[in-house]
Amino acid sequence: MRNSSILLTAMAVFFTTAGCGRDATSESGGVAEESAPAPDEAASASASSNNGAADEKRWFISAANPYAAEAGAEILRQGGSAVDAAVATATVLGLVEPQSSGLGGGAFLLHYDPATGALETYNGREKAPISATPDRFLTETGEPMNFYDAVASGLSVGVPGAVRMYALAHDDHGALAWNKLFDPAIRLSDDGFKVSPRMNMLLDRFPRLRATPEAAAYFYDENGSPREVGYLLKNPEYAQTLRVIAEHGPDAFYEGAIAEAIVDAVNSASISGDMTMQDMADYTALKQAPVCAGYRAYEICSMAPPSSGGVTTLQILAMLEPFDLAAAGAHTAPALHLLFEASKLAYADRNQYLADNLALADKGGLSPEEVIAGLLNPAYLEARAALIDATSAATDVTAGDPSAHAIETGAGEWSGLGADASPEPPSTTHYTIVDGEGRVVSTTATVEFAFGSHLMAAGMILNNELTDFSFLPVRDGKPVANAVAPGKRPRSSMSPVIAFDDDGDFWAALGSPGGPAIIGYVAKTLIALIDWEMSLQDAIDLPNAVYPRGSAILEENGFNTQTRADLMTLGHEITERALTSGVHAVRVNPDGSYEGGADPRREGVWLTGVVDK
Ligand code: GLU
Repeated sequence: MRNSSILLTAMAVFFTTAGCGRDATSESGGVAEESAPAPDEAASASASSNNGAADEKRWFISAANPYAAEAGAEILRQGGSAVDAAVATATVLGLVEPQSSGLGGGAFLLHYDPATGALETYNGREKAPISATPDRFLTETGEPMNFYDAVASGLSVGVPGAVRMYALAHDDHGALAWNKLFDPAIRLSDDGFKVSPRMNMLLDRFPRLRATPEAAAYFYDENGSPREVGYLLKNPEYAQTLRVIAEHGPDAFYEGAIAEAIVDAVNSASISGDMTMQDMADYTALKQAPVCAGYRAYEICSMAPPSSGGVTTLQILAMLEPFDLAAAGAHTAPALHLLFEASKLAYADRNQYLADNLALADKGGLSPEEVIAGLLNPAYLEARAALIDATSAATDVTAGDPSAHAIETGAGEWSGLGADASPEPPSTTHYTIVDGEGRVVSTTATVEFAFGSHLMAAGMILNNELTDFSFLPVRDGKPVANAVAPGKRPRSSMSPVIAFDDDGDFWAALGSPGGPAIIGYVAKTLIALIDWEMSLQDAIDLPNAVYPRGSAILEENGFNTQTRADLMTLGHEITERALTSGVHAVRVNPDGSYEGGADPRREGVWLTGVVDK
C-alpha cells in the first residue's frame, strides 16, 4: 500500500512543475504573542504555542540564532509572508552566523501554501564557472588536491545563488516590499551585534581565516585573537551591500560593484579561481518539483537533485517501513541497527547516482527525472530492503541497479558510474517559518565549510561549495556523476522537509546542517516523531546516530555501554564523536497549535506570536 503511494507520488512530481496538489487548510490561530525574547536572553521555548481566538493570525519561526529568529518575527508581526520573513532571517544569519550561511552562498527553499495546495522548491545552489573543467581539483600529477587547500582557494567558490533564489521566491510569494526585508540586517550591521559563543569558538578553531586580510581585520583583534563572546561587531560594508540589493534588486548583486568585488576576491586569491562577471550575470535560480514519498501515515517531501538529501532520506524511510521500529523501541540497538543498514544501502546509491546529473543521461539515456524515479521505485526499494538482515551488519554494501525494477526507466543504463568518495565536512544552517496565513517555508542554506572559502567580498563570506564536487572525475576507470563540469551545481546533502498528515494537511517542517550526516539527522527526527511518538523537542534532543560512510557514528555521551556492546555484537564498527545537528522545526499539534523545536547543539530558538492588527 505504502509502496504504491511512493510510486504515485514520485511519478506525479516528475511531470508537474507546480508541485503536489493538495487542499490543506490553515489552522494557525493564536492568542497573545508569547514574549519574544530579546536576542541576549532568548532561549528555546519548550511548550507548544497556544490556540486562541479564531481571528488571530499566528506565525512561527525557528532559526539557528536569536537575532535571525527575531528578524523574521519582526517581518511576520507586520503581516509579512513566510518568504518575506525568510529574506530577513537569511540576511541576518549571514551577519551573525557567517560560519554557516550568507548571501555569498546558496540555499534550497521549500514553500507550501495551504490556500492553493502547492508545494514548490527553489534551487539557489551555487554553480561552477563556465570555464570549470573536471580536473579542477587535481594536481599536476593527477592526484586529488589537499582538501583544505582547495577549500581556502578561489577554485572552490561557486557563483552564489541565494540572492536570485530569494528574489524568485519573493516574486511568487512576497507580501511586503522587497526593500523592507533588509531593514533588520542593515540595522544590525550598522549598530553591531554581539558575537556568539559558537562564532567565537569557530573563529578560534579555523585560524586559517586570518590569512584573508579582510577576514583578519573583521573577525580578529589586532593581536590575532578571535572577537570575544559579546563583542559588539559591526559590518558597515555588508550594510552597504544590503542597501544596494534592497534598493536596486537582485541584479545589483550579480552585476556592477558587488559582483566585481566577488570576482576580484576569487581571482586574486593565492590559489586563484576563474569566475567572470559573465558567470555572475548568468546565474539563474530554478523552481523544481519536490520529491515526495509516503512514510507510514505521512507524506514526506524534500528537495530533488542537485541535492541528494531528499531522495536518500526517502530511500532510508522506505527501506525501514517493513520493520516495526516502534516495537524495537526508541534508540535501542535493534532499531539503530536497522537505521544503519538502511543508511548504508541508501548512501551507496547516493554516492553512485545522485548529482546535478546529466552524467547518466550521457551514459545511457536516463534523464535526471528517471534517475529519481528509479531510485524511489517501490519494487526496487523492496528488493533493497530485503537485503537488510535484522541480526547482522552487512559488509561491502554497493549501489543497486534499479533497472531490473524501474518500470519507467527500461531503456536506461545504470551501470558504469564510479562512486564519489570526497570528504564533506559539516557547516550550514536550517530555518523554518510559518506565516499568519499558514504558508510554510523550510530552508537549508550554506556557505559549505565553516566560513566557506575564507574569502570575503563586499562584507560577505564567499562559499566553497565547489568542493562538494567529486575531486576525482573518474574512479576505478568509471566516470563519477558528481564530477565538476561547466555551469554545473555540486551535489548537496541538504534536506529541507515539509511533511503532511494522512488528511493531506501540513504536519511538520524541518531540516538540519551537518554535511552528509544531514540525511541521518532528518531521518532520525522523523522516525522519533512518527515511530517513537516523541515531542518535537525530544525528537531533536535524541542523541544522533548516523552511517554516512564506512562506519556507524554515535553522538558522544549519547549511548550507554550496553547499546554500544549490542551494536558491536551485531557486527558494527562504532565511532563516537560530536554530531552537531541543527534541526529547527515546527509541528502542527492535533488541536492545530504549533509545537516548536530548536537544536540545543547550536544556538537556535523558536518564537511564535500573532500578526499585528
Ligand atoms: N555543503 C553541504 C551540502 O550542501 C552542506 C554542508 C553542511 O551541512 O555542513 O550538502
